Amino acid sequence: MIILLFGPPGSGKGTQARLISEWLSVPSLSTGDMLRSEARQDSDLGRKIRETLAEGRYVSDEMVNVIVLQQLERNPASGLVLDGYPRTVRQAVYLENALLERGFPPPVAVHLDVPTEQIVERLSSREQCPACRRIFNLLQQQPRSPGVCDDCSGSLVRRDDDKPDVIRERLHTYHELTGPVLAHYTGANYLPLDGNRKPDAVFRDIQVSLDPFHKRWIADR
Ligand SMILES: [Zn+2]
Repeated sequence: MIILLFGPPGSGKGTQARLISEWLSVPSLSTGDMLRSEARQDSDLGRKIRETLAEGRYVSDEMVNVIVLQQLERNPASGLVLDGYPRTVRQAVYLENALLERGFPPPVAVHLDVPTEQIVERLSSREQCPACRRIFNLLQQQPRSPGVCDDCSGSLVRRDDDKPDVIRERLHTYHELTGPVLAHYTGANYLPLDGNRKPDAVFRDIQVSLDPFHKRWIADR
């Protein structure tokens, strides 16, 4: 089945993508992963992406569409978990038509909703070791002694992009970009979930919500 994961930075989307992927044996792909993997291929598209990335240009919506479609054709039995796609309403419409043409059911959109202030709290309580890059979260995963890396004894610092003002700005941009795409998904295939809980509680909710869709997918394959 085609599962689209939406949620702001810091919503735990990556963790849930991994859990869903393991549970249903469906490959989980972020747009970044797909672009990097395609750029390694010796194909026209791979070459085009390499050039675009090397020139520091933005990979077009159309190129990303083609890559997503290729991935879908490589995984027709399982489907895909997509993280970061679609980014625009045009991509959402493209995906829908492409699925319809190939006899796939419409995608299921899972939206992990976490209030801005909770995200700010989560992300601004991160500290990183500049030496070994390990990240600690002072709410969930504290270092054994405050301010000191467990692995290499480096002095932990807060990254600039984890400062509250920067986080709020990133969230604002996220909502501006994603709002219209989310508004596109309504009805039974839109699953808004409270992401402001422990990861295993969120995952249990996701399992309950996705189970009927998955059963139908299996029955139709
Ligand atoms: Zn360290």
